[in-house]
Amino acid sequence: MIDNNCIFCKIANGEIPAYTVYEDDTFRAILDAAPANEGHTLIIPKEHYENLFAIPDAVAENVMKIAKNIATLQKERLHCDGVNILQNNGAAAGQTVMHYHLHVIPRREGDGHLVPWTPLQRTNEEQETTLEKLK
Ligand code: AMP
Ligand code: ZN
Repeated sequence: MIDNNCIFCKIANGEIPAYTVYEDDTFRAILDAAPANEGHTLIIPKEHYENLFAIPDAVAENVMKIAKNIATLQKERLHCDGVNILQNNGAAAGQTVMHYHLHVIPRREGDGHLVPWTPLQRTNEEQETTLEKLK
């Protein structure tokens, strides 16, 4: 399904032009309009899914294969030093466009971007309690 009010539906389906790095029947990968670094790419499914909780397993599997190829291109062609794969789900996690998309971000030594969390200190007991909740 496509949502007529969704900008990423329009971009992914070619109704709004974008800088397309890769396209197949299911996905379009585009340059982010406000990139963290040169080559920052968003992989967007053509169907409208709000986030990770809504995508079919096939989309989840295939998006990572595409991410691997794009990250490889970034390394070979842009000579980046590293790559972050990032994907936000929900406003609390920083999602601003409510159509699933995966960020593939080339990183350079000293580029100053921070991975956005402050580590908690956890006791063994706390880790065990968490494990019980998740298992
Ligand atoms: P997120 O915070 O994970 O929802 O990321 C949304 C991303 O989409 C941001 O990095 C924006 O710069 C990017 N973005 C928003 N609108 C556009 C657009 N029209 N074309 C390309 N990138 C966009
Ligand atoms: Zn959409």
